[in-house]
Amino acid sequence: MEKDASAPDPSRQCNGFSGVLYGEFTDTLNDGVRYSVSLTESALTIQRISSSPDRTKRRWMSTGVARQRVEQCFRVALVQDPLVNLREAERWAHAIRDASVLQAPRRDGVTYTELRRPCRTMILVNPHSGRGQALQLFTGHIQAMLTEASVPYTLVITEHQNHARELVRNADLTQWDALVIMSGDGLLFEVINGLMEREDWQQAIQTPLGMLPGGSGNALAASIHHYSQSPPAWNEELLLSCGFMLCKGLVGPLDLVSVHLASSQRLFSFLSLAWGFVADVDIESEKYRHVGAIRFLMGTLVRLASLRVYQGRLAYLPAKEVPKPPNERVKATRPPFTSQQPSLCSSLPCHLVPRTSPKQSSVKNCVDTNLNQNSITNSSSVITNMRPETHGNNKTASPTDSLLPSLDQPVPENWTVVNEEDFVLVLAIYQSHLAEDLWTVPGAMADDGLIHLLYVTAGISRPALLRLFLAMERGSHLACGCPHLVYEKVRALRLEPVSQQGMITVDGEVVEYGPIQAQVHPRMARLICG
Ligand code: ADP
Ligand code: MG
Repeated sequence: MEKDASAPDPSRQCNGFSGVLYGEFTDTLNDGVRYSVSLTESALTIQRISSSPDRTKRRWMSTGVARQRVEQCFRVALVQDPLVNLREAERWAHAIRDASVLQAPRRDGVTYTELRRPCRTMILVNPHSGRGQALQLFTGHIQAMLTEASVPYTLVITEHQNHARELVRNADLTQWDALVIMSGDGLLFEVINGLMEREDWQQAIQTPLGMLPGGSGNALAASIHHYSQSPPAWNEELLLSCGFMLCKGLVGPLDLVSVHLASSQRLFSFLSLAWGFVADVDIESEKYRHVGAIRFLMGTLVRLASLRVYQGRLAYLPAKEVPKPPNERVKATRPPFTSQQPSLCSSLPCHLVPRTSPKQSSVKNCVDTNLNQNSITNSSSVITNMRPETHGNNKTASPTDSLLPSLDQPVPENWTVVNEEDFVLVLAIYQSHLAEDLWTVPGAMADDGLIHLLYVTAGISRPALLRLFLAMERGSHLACGCPHLVYEKVRALRLEPVSQQGMITVDGEVVEYGPIQAQVHPRMARLICG
């Protein structure tokens, strides 16, 4: 950015200007065109001098319109000394970055912190996510933004499933100020679980996590965008919004949910636990991956055609328990889950989903060397100082799930047992969006300390279920008055499938089918947000 040498002193030029900075510049391509540029805490205003006032342009920070990336280069030619001009350009660059943070929304009771600057960022890309274009999307839309914002980053291209999980489990995290995922939700699931498997999980999970949507399921990216109070955005617009948040570098809290499977395995989840219709659509639509996010709509229509009922038992700890007399507490017509009366599904054989065997690969191999590193300012290109892989049993150090009894014990007295066994879907979700275009929980926040439990009971017609999903695009499904849809805010839940076959997903990833329970851990992780 260059400033016009002929421009008078800013204070004289713009009497009464009370913003952060004011200056006049010429266009880099056309010396004859001059602009006045003023930066306040809420807007960057660019006005072509000697043009009509309505040609004023407000850049970024404005509200009510989708965010777009617009490049405009100015010449700073204050004096002959190029170093002085460079310093002036840098002064503007710093002021613009700082103003973007000042303008960020603040919420009562929530402390947002700023990423350390320069923020040494590891960006993990799953080249197969979405339509297989995550890397192209990164180079086409994000790379330049990060360079302009002086964010030094290292790109890591994952080579196989669980590669990112192994990598963060063993990484020297003192080298990184943020871990950013350019993929769908599945790669973040890997990263969170890799962090939680470390002996130093308490510190490791404090590493700020960022999300750049590059998959077909970009629920967290859509949710973060929504929390930033921006108008809805999809595809590249959503990507730009998340890239912008990464450049701004504000960090807020993120709830995690601890999930226990029948085989005693424990997972950490940031998005959802699904059984029935939603899980089936997610997994069955994998075969339409090449069409992108629309795969979920195609999967929904196919599954609607062969709608089925799933038998199981559901219980939960309400977020705001109302004390009730013991004989009213349990609404179930069937006996509640007890250890004396083992539930049907506790004794069901568990089916373990085969996992890709983790392939050991050298760290250097995973660093992308095809990108033109010369075009990236200050970026490091090789990961160094990786810790040797540890195999220590870290279970004792893991967080305690104080709300959960063991899976073979009855649920506690203060839990509610659902008086139904025939479901079309059960969905526990802890973000606002289940997909870019599914606004599933309008009131949800990343750190509300809640699991939002939705279930649909058997008997719902196909058109009624389709209507629910269509209404979900506008977030109006809860107001539809559908008698089969139930919504509860809970802190813990247990699901015991009775149907012998089915699919359970956690954050969109298939997990072992069988009894499963979960509890929320408020604000356990940290998220780069707007
Ligand atoms: P999408 O939203 O398109 O499904 P995800 O980020 O959810 O994208 O990734 C899909 C799956 O791919 C996840 O199970 C993730 O663990 C896995 N994965 C990550 N990296 C790779 C890779 N390099 N090759 C194959 N699968 C991978
Ligand atoms: Mg996925």
